[in-house]
Amino acid sequence: MLDWTMERSRTLAEAKCLVVKIGSAVLTGSNGLKTEVLDSLAEQLARVTRTGNHPRKLLVVSSAAVAAGRAALGAHGVVADTTGLAARQGAAAVGQGRLMRCWDDAFHKQDMLTAQVLLTQDDFRVQQRLLNARNTFTEIFSWGAVPIVNENDTVSTEGLKFGDNDALASLLVTLVGADLLINLTSSPGVFSEPPREGVTPKVLSCIEDVASLNLDTMCGGKTNVGTGGMYSKLLSARRAAQRGIPTLILPGREENILLRAFGGENVGTWVCPQARAIPSRKFWMAYKAAPVGRLVIDDGAAEALQKRGKSLLPGGILEVEGSFDKGDLVRIVHQGRSLGVGVSNYTSEDIVRIKGLKRFEVAAILGNAHYPEVVHRDNMLLDAAI
Ligand code: GLU
Repeated sequence: MLDWTMERSRTLAEAKCLVVKIGSAVLTGSNGLKTEVLDSLAEQLARVTRTGNHPRKLLVVSSAAVAAGRAALGAHGVVADTTGLAARQGAAAVGQGRLMRCWDDAFHKQDMLTAQVLLTQDDFRVQQRLLNARNTFTEIFSWGAVPIVNENDTVSTEGLKFGDNDALASLLVTLVGADLLINLTSSPGVFSEPPREGVTPKVLSCIEDVASLNLDTMCGGKTNVGTGGMYSKLLSARRAAQRGIPTLILPGREENILLRAFGGENVGTWVCPQARAIPSRKFWMAYKAAPVGRLVIDDGAAEALQKRGKSLLPGGILEVEGSFDKGDLVRIVHQGRSLGVGVSNYTSEDIVRIKGLKRFEVAAILGNAHYPEVVHRDNMLLDAAI
């Protein structure tokens, strides 16, 4: 087995395109944006992109529009309760301009241009928009400018949201063909268990098989979903790993953290890529949209999918949840556990009629012109990080 420390040093030296995600807690304090932190990160990033075995492309995913907006409103004597969605969106609109101005100033000091890019999950569902986004990034990179990406909070309503910028960063890794994802967080790295009163667990230097982790136990339950806790960072790392891309989770506030990591210091947590990367077609199928329904399957079907690489047939389906169309993404569930996702060949209504049935019985109900599989193997991703 290849030693991960060698793999880490090799990737840090050779990576040609970096996606660096930076969380709100790294960039802000109680008074809003900490410009000295942004300045230091821009300086380090400039050095990192100019050193190494090649000049590197850099894409920054920056949170902190909401936090910056909240602070700005407070400074103007406006007491905004930003717990509700519309107020968060409004605060993001106030803060995004400031956030961008601070990044632009910080990179300007390094003689680098920035480019603001705001995206929603919806943009990834539509092929034409996805292509436009990729072409835009290509142009920006060709000018040596740094795209600073955030979710377009103003238009991202619940159903369209990535939920957090960790998920957005994991999609961008594949969109721009990055070879490393760096996640700068307020934590020293990934802890072996959730920190408790008086107990600081150890930081894992390496996660070799991120797919095998029980994230609920490690991260103290799913309460962290969508709030940008370690749960979402590990889901994001898992998506990157599925595409064969490693993730480095680093404490973004520690002095010169990027220079130290790129200089060979073993800081933070290295998440190894999977040995066999999934093709980008499967990646987009699984992640560009959220699943809209659930298929609960029996033991035999679970075994056929997981151990024998088979498709999901009507006979193995116990329950159908949600209302969906042909071509929609659905979650495949066994004994309360999500096994993965796949594209349904049938509407939810038709699956209700044919679940549990054999092929000839299905034909008697729907006629012969039907697919033998409800979800074909080629349109299925087991272990999807959703
Ligand atoms: N888009 C949000 C902001 O800029 C942050 C989302 C997240 O925390 O990941 O404030």
